[in-house]
This record gives sequence, structure tokens and C-alpha cells, in this order.
Amino acid sequence: MLIKDIMERLDAKKERVIDIRRHLHAHPELSFEEEKTAAYIKDFYREVPVDAVETNVGGHRGIAVTIKGAEPGKTIAIRADFDALPIQEETGHPYASENEGVMHACGHDGHTAYMLVLAETLAEVKDQLTGMIKIIHQPAEEMPPGGAIGMIDAGVLDGVDAVIGIHVMSMMETGHIYYKSGNTQTGRSHFKLTIQGKGGHGSSPHMANDAIVAASAFVMNCQTIVSRRVDPFDTAVVTIGSFDGKGQFNVIKDSVTLEGDVRTMSQEAREIVEAQVRQFAKGLESSYGVETTLDYENDYPVLYNDPEVTEHVRNALVEASIPEVESVEETGPLPPSEDFAYYLKEKPGCFFYVGAMPETQEWYPHHHPKFDINEKSLIISAKAMAAVVVSYCGSNKSE
Ligand code: MN
Repeated sequence: MLIKDIMERLDAKKERVIDIRRHLHAHPELSFEEEKTAAYIKDFYREVPVDAVETNVGGHRGIAVTIKGAEPGKTIAIRADFDALPIQEETGHPYASENEGVMHACGHDGHTAYMLVLAETLAEVKDQLTGMIKIIHQPAEEMPPGGAIGMIDAGVLDGVDAVIGIHVMSMMETGHIYYKSGNTQTGRSHFKLTIQGKGGHGSSPHMANDAIVAASAFVMNCQTIVSRRVDPFDTAVVTIGSFDGKGQFNVIKDSVTLEGDVRTMSQEAREIVEAQVRQFAKGLESSYGVETTLDYENDYPVLYNDPEVTEHVRNALVEASIPEVESVEETGPLPPSEDFAYYLKEKPGCFFYVGAMPETQEWYPHHHPKFDINEKSLIISAKAMAAVVVSYCGSNKSE
């Protein structure tokens, strides 16, 4: 069977995938600045018999690689991100970041490492594959507007039937793979509201128009959005993280700026929260006689896994019987936002999770200075993605 052949080939690359990950880990680059990382990826493909390598896709050093099977069939896109974070690493590893204040603290080094050895392996066996594989090496997942939009605009999803991604997860035990159908990761929005009142003396409020009072009412009103407007079986968060009203005790504040963060688990909730924030802001004008300016921005959408593709992914993972994988389980929704959601707005697909908890069981969350992954998760990710690709595109080799 082709998948068994691929798994054997990947087994022979177990050490190499770790070497690649450690090289990337030692040389992290921030979102939209991944010059050397992109050059490393491009260089990797020099000797690999893929059918096309396009560089600078979408204008931020994204790389799109095409592998054509021997016969036409379905086209699957698989994505790995490659940016790091503005964090000073504290793991103490010999291969820790050599770049001051920059760290691969989300596992994107691992994503890129597994994807490179997988791409090489798929290229080796492409005469036994049907259909087409498009590999998306994406920059800037961590920084809005994110690298996905640019690559989509540049056409990486043209002709694609399904798009698949993996995230390694430090809080999930190594040897377990998790998936969820439907709305899976929160969408993110944020806003900035400036309330303009009229300043004055603290002793004469009737001569002024207090922006702090109006802003306080707005903060309290926002507490009713989730409790009174969002379906109790849906999920949303509205956080006012900044209330810029500093002044002096005897001065009535003329202007206050508030900033808020919104997370939602459905497109409906996303629209309801936005409409309600807008209404409350506007309402201050008639209720308090202030002027308001609201900048409301929706960034990463809700990550929606297509139920049919997710079912296919699950079955492929179970049927592949990957020796290192003990279980393939359903998970609940996950709180962070992820720009893979943009691909899933364009094409049906699935983003799933590979357990990467360190052997010691001592784990740190993503974006922590001591964040670490179990490097066994790299070969597991490569095998898992291989299983999905082969099962989705099919093989022309007689079984
Ligand atoms: Mn990430």
C-alpha cells in the first residue's frame, strides 16, 4: 500500500525532520520579516522533484509548491505557517533562538519541518499518486492581517477541492490526534471607541459634558451583549481591555478612548456583537449628548471545519493506523484565533490538532517563553497529513 510505503520513507527521515526543526527554531523571524526562513524553504526544494515552486506568493515571501500525480484527479492544498513571535526564549535548549527577543513559541518551526520532509516524500512517490497536491508555506500567521489573505488573493486555492492544516499542540498529549467538525476556533474582532464630551471644572458638571460617565455607561452596556443578545448555546466574549480616561480629580474629562476585544464562535454571533457595539456607541450620542467615533475591525474569521471533509480526515487517520498514534479523538472548541480560517472560508477543509506535549509532561502554553513541543509530533504530523493526502487524492498503484 502506498501509505505504508510513505510511512517507511518518513521513518527514514525521523532525525532529519528534527534537524530541520532545530535549525528553524534557532533562527526565528517575526511575521512579515521571514526573509531567511523563506530562503531556507526555497533552497530545500532545489533537489526535490516537485513540479513547481513559486516564491514571493502574495508579496510576503510565501511559497507555493505543486506536486502532480501521474493521473488527473482531485487537488488538495496543505498548509504550514513559518513565522515566529516577539518573545525572549527561556527553554535553555542548545538549539534555542539565536535571535534576541524572537522565538518560535507556537510550533510553526515544527509545521514547516514536517511539511518539508512530507513534500519531499510525496515528490518521491508522485508516479503512484493521482490528482495534485499544492503545498502552501505561509508567512505571518501571528500578525493581523495575516499571511493567508495575500496567498489566497494570489490564487493558491485556485482549482483546489479541499484545504487541510495541522497545528501541533503543547497541551495535548503526544500520540493523540484531535479534530472537530463545524465551528472550531474563535473569530476575532477588535474596536476603538473615542467619546468626545466637553471638559470643565469638577465643581460645575452642569457646565460640562462628562466623557467618563458616558464611557462608563458604554462599558456596562457591553456586559449585556453576551448575556442578552447572543444565543445561550452560542459563545462570545466582549472584553474592554483599555479605558483611557486618566486626568485629574477636579477636572471633567472631555474625551475618553476605549479599546475592546471580541471573540465569537459563529458568524451569527460575530455579526450580532458588532451590530450591538455599534448601536451602544451611537446611542451614547442621544443619551449623553457626546460625539462618538468607532473603528470596528473584524480580523481572523471563525474557523469552520467542513463536516464532510472532517469526517474524511478522521477516517483517513484511523484507517492509516499510524504506529505512533494511540487515538484520534473529537475535541471541543478552542479559544485562540487562527488565520487558517480564511482558507476555510474559500474552500471546504479541515484544521486538526496533533498532540505535542513534552515527554516530561511539563508543558507550557503556546506563546510562553518556555513553550516546547515533543519532537515526535513532527513525524506524527507528517504521517497524519500523508494519510489524509493519499486517502483524499487516491493512488493509481494497485493495492
Ligand atoms: Mn500557531
